[in-house]
Amino acid sequence: MDIVRDQFIDLHVHTTASDGTLKPAEAVAYAHNKGLKAIAITDHDTVQGVAEAVQAGGELGLEVIPGVEISVDHSGGELHILGYFVDIHSLVLRESLDKLREYRDLRNPQMIDKLRSLGLQVTMEEVEAIAGGDIVGRPHFAALLVEKGIVPNKQQAFDRFLAQGRPAYVKKEKLTPPEGVELVVAAGGIPVLAHPKYLRENSSPDTLRSLLSELKSIGLKGLEVYYSTHSPEEENLYRMLAKEAGLLITGGTDFHGANKPEIEIGIGQGNLRIPYILVERLKNIHRGCSYAAANSKA
Ligand code: AMP
Ligand code: FE
Ligand code: FE
Ligand code: ZN
Repeated sequence: MDIVRDQFIDLHVHTTASDGTLKPAEAVAYAHNKGLKAIAITDHDTVQGVAEAVQAGGELGLEVIPGVEISVDHSGGELHILGYFVDIHSLVLRESLDKLREYRDLRNPQMIDKLRSLGLQVTMEEVEAIAGGDIVGRPHFAALLVEKGIVPNKQQAFDRFLAQGRPAYVKKEKLTPPEGVELVVAAGGIPVLAHPKYLRENSSPDTLRSLLSELKSIGLKGLEVYYSTHSPEEENLYRMLAKEAGLLITGGTDFHGANKPEIEIGIGQGNLRIPYILVERLKNIHRGCSYAAANSKA
């Protein structure tokens, strides 16, 4: 990778604990080989991959930030709240993530039923075998449909069957955006709004502005400004909105290994260079929050 060793980071990395294809330790070794200085493990609705990744990072000398990416309900769709430096042993975090897994476990067999009623020969066991980790999600359904030759690629699996409004879609219960932010805060973490590009409101900076200010009032601390599919114009817009709202800037690629082969760790589609200083700023905020929490308990 054409980057200066030990200068750059990736704060958005998925592993086999959710829908990435590298195991946590493999993702860390991979990031290390690519010359990154720090990564955050941000699996969907789980922190099962974090401990292994932190240990691997310790052995290799790569900084691994414990994280999570929580899907929350938003205008009929969803948005994603990243949580950095969450305490993976936090009871409230564990209980809430267990609850989110229950919602998945209720939804997934219903999606199988729908696919089968459309005449497709698929089973829950097959999807689970593909997932192999803690979280079974629609990307695993998509992979199975590709593997079975039902669709040529995963995007078509979403477009024909799995996306909202398509015949195998089943709505899953989720937290609200404020609940997602509050959960990260309760787990001692720093909440950051992920990939603003994918918000339905992204057509209007004003709607994003009001969402940011609403979520900031309950603890949002940052916005994911650097992102694999943000254009330079979008990056500038989000940087400006973050600054205006008094939010930190963060950045990551949303690396999923072979599940999103066009996205490379650290560099996304080739152009991203996310500076280590963002980690320093996150840590400063985190220290401040821990200090405030300790004082409020005293
Ligand atoms: P789940 O949490 O199991 O409902 O799966 C949500 C994940 O599916 C998202 O994080 C995306 O990676 C993927 N996804 C959802 N909608 C689409 C879509 N329309 N096209 C492609 N991928 C999608
Ligand atoms: Fe994903
Ligand atoms: Fe996401
Ligand atoms: Zn992600």
